[in-house]
Order: sequence, then structure tokens, then C-alpha cells
Amino acid sequence: MSAPSVSGPHVSHLKDLDYSVVQQCMHCGLCLPTCPTYDTTKLERNSPRGRISLMRAIADGRLEPTRTFADEMYYCLGCLACMTACPAGVNYAELFEHARAEAEQSGVLKSAPRSLIRNFTLRWLFLDLKRLQWIGRTLRFYQRLGLQSFVRHSGVLRLLPQRLRELEAMTPAVQPRFSAEMISAVTPALKPKRYRVAVLTGCAQDLIFSDVNRDTVEVLARNGCEVVTPPAQHCCGSLHAHNGEWELAQQLARKQIDQFPPQDFDAIITNAAGCGSHLKHYAKLLADDPIYHQRAQTWDGKVKDIHEWLMQIGLTPPLAKGQPVQQVTYHEACHLCHGQKITMQPRQILRIIPNLKLIELPESMWCCGSAGIYNLIQPEMATELLDRKLKHIKSTGAETVATGNPGCLLQILNGVRVRNLSLRIVHPITLLAEAYRRADAHF
Ligand code: SF4
Ligand code: SF4
Repeated sequence: MSAPSVSGPHVSHLKDLDYSVVQQCMHCGLCLPTCPTYDTTKLERNSPRGRISLMRAIADGRLEPTRTFADEMYYCLGCLACMTACPAGVNYAELFEHARAEAEQSGVLKSAPRSLIRNFTLRWLFLDLKRLQWIGRTLRFYQRLGLQSFVRHSGVLRLLPQRLRELEAMTPAVQPRFSAEMISAVTPALKPKRYRVAVLTGCAQDLIFSDVNRDTVEVLARNGCEVVTPPAQHCCGSLHAHNGEWELAQQLARKQIDQFPPQDFDAIITNAAGCGSHLKHYAKLLADDPIYHQRAQTWDGKVKDIHEWLMQIGLTPPLAKGQPVQQVTYHEACHLCHGQKITMQPRQILRIIPNLKLIELPESMWCCGSAGIYNLIQPEMATELLDRKLKHIKSTGAETVATGNPGCLLQILNGVRVRNLSLRIVHPITLLAEAYRRADAHF
């Protein structure tokens, strides 16, 4: 059987899925100790093996999608640790996306508030990033005028239900300037030009970590890349694919391919692990699209995570002059280490920075609980995972935590703020950009 068709509504996402993917699990259980939800509950249904059995039962027509099935798919973090552990090469990422799409298609989770939130976010806000930026600007105004701080100190938030108070406390600080206000549409290579690349500035990344986008472009330009960053970009659709909105994810993939024709670039760069893991699989997403499938195959080959690309082209080390001693530990974003199998390159980049001591983090590959919007929909499990992560971070004695994904940055930042810890949380590329600037200042 082929991948689900783009041309009409699916009968069933799991039944339509290539059966070789559905039946690959041999029930060995080697993935169980790596699964954070199974590790917490020790229940088979909360394990990869249990979830795959449920998916297969639906694909085989032995089970209809039920509320329990759908809840289970949303209790899964989608961290893909099970894929790394699996000796049979089970493609859990593909199963997971289709299982969530099946859950959505069945309507078993439908409720008016849930539909309202999903329509607002997935079908409106993230379908046109101008809308997201408008919300971002409003939030920035609210924060910079001191209104957020005033509201927080006034005690009025005590009137809200506890869950809303918790969500309010997680509101991220919006950057003073978005990517397009800091980065030219085309940034020339600072050295003789070797490559022409595009940088995807992302959706939430652009609002909350536009400084990481600026640093990414700067580092690329310093290493011989001409960088193209159109001011108006689209969401990559990973949020949609991970939340069961398969058709919307396809729509957004086509927009990306139209905006960044892959044949025009040596590489299409992302600095967000969650996006990268999704962006590299457009060919599968558009498998039955006669117009886009071939272009999607070229696209997949051009998408590179920033760490991967820099180590591939060879990085100019920053000069040692003026570099402070730094003790840094590295948290591996799930969608970088499990989703893209990129583990060495971020460490190599950190080790290139003079006077930076990299201290290995125990359980560096264990999910921090961010997992897209998991920390919003499953707060208890997300907090448990965050506590575990922070305990390990503290044990390293490092003053800085580096990680290559906006979700992880935000999750750990929130944990540090709430617990009043003195830790800097930063993208590895920012540490590299800072090292270049310091070296320039001492030249
Ligand atoms: S993706 Fe993560 S949470 Fe889900 S089954 Fe695999 S290891 Fe467990
Ligand atoms: S997913 Fe892989 S590791 Fe887990 S039970 Fe199935 S075959 Fe074994």
C-alpha cells in the first residue's frame, strides 16, 4: 500500500499506511527502558511496544480508534528515543504522526474548547506567520510597558484557575526585534563565497529566539556562505504533522518548497531541531503529490541542521584571544539526537570554542519534557521530566547549558526561572558567534 493520498480524505491514516511499517515491531521490548512515559508508569500501554500494538490493531481492523487510544497517542512525547533503541529499525516517527492523525480523524477527542484552540492555533495562527507576528508584537508591547510585571505583582492572577496561572507563568519573553528587523534578505559571505544557503527563521523561534537566527546567519557568513533569509517566511508544518493535521502539514511543505526552490541552494539550514527532523521528510509527506514529490526529494537532501552543515563544510575556529573560561554542559534535543542522529557535531562545535570546557550531562538524550506543545497539554509528566533534567544539569556544576532547539531552550529557561537557579541557557551557535565577536574585539 502507498502513503496516504493527498488528493482526498483518508479512509484511515493507519489502514492506508504502508503495512511494512505497521508490522515491523518484533515485540522484543528493547525500547522500553528508553521510553520516558514507560519509565514513569511501568505500564505496557504507555510503552512504544504497547502503542505500536494499538496502532497495528487499528490498521488490522481489530480495533476502532477510541478515546483511550487517542489519549495514549497524546501521552506519548514523540521524543523518538524508542527509534534509537530499536534493533528492528521500526519507523516510530511515521507511525506516531499517522496515529495522531487517525485520532484526530476519528473525532473521539472532539470538544468545543479543544476545537476552538486547535482552529485558532493550527488552522489560523500558524498558517500565516504575519498573524503570529502580530500577536508577538502585541505581547512585546505588553511586556515592555511593564504591564505583564504589573499584572503579575497585582495579585489579580490569583483569580484565575490554577492551570491558567501555570500557563501564564510560562509566557515567553518576546524579543525586542524579530529576524527580519535584524537580518538582511541576503547576507553576503564575509570570506570568499563558497556556498549559497537559505536559513529558515521559524515561527516561534522568530518571536522568542530571533537572536539565535541572527547568530546563525552571522556564523554562516563568517564561514563562506551567502545567506538568503526572506523576511516573510512560512511555518514548516512540524507542529501540524505532530498534532494530527496531515493535510495542513502538506500545504505548508508545498509553500516552503515554492519559497526556497531546493535547486537554487547548496543547503537549506535550520537551527531548530524539531523543525529539522520534520523538514528532512517532505518527500514522504508529499509521496503521492505528482507535482511536488520529486522536488521534495531534492529538498530533503538539501535540508541541514546548522551544526551538521558547519561541520560538513569545515569551520574556522575562533581565535583564542579574549575568550573567557566557560563551563558548559550540553542537553541533546530529542529531534536532533533521535530524530536526525546528530550527536557529535554540536559537541565538536562547542569544543572548537577556545577556553570552553564541555562537561558531559548525565542522560543528555533524555527528553526535557518540552516535546513541542507537550508541556502545555501534559503538564505533570513534562514537569517530572524537567525536574529530572535540572537535577542532572546541577550535578555537572556547569554555569551554562547549551541546546539546539527552541522548545528545549524555553522549557529549561522556564524551569530555571521558576526555581531561581543561576544558569545560562543558550543555543550552541550563539556561543560560537560570541566567540567570533570577542576574537574580533581583541584583534
Ligand atoms: S516517542 Fe518517546 S514517549 Fe513515545 S513511545 Fe517512543 S520513547 Fe516513548
Ligand atoms: S519498537 Fe523495536 S525495540 Fe521496541 S519492541 Fe518493537 S522491535 Fe523491539
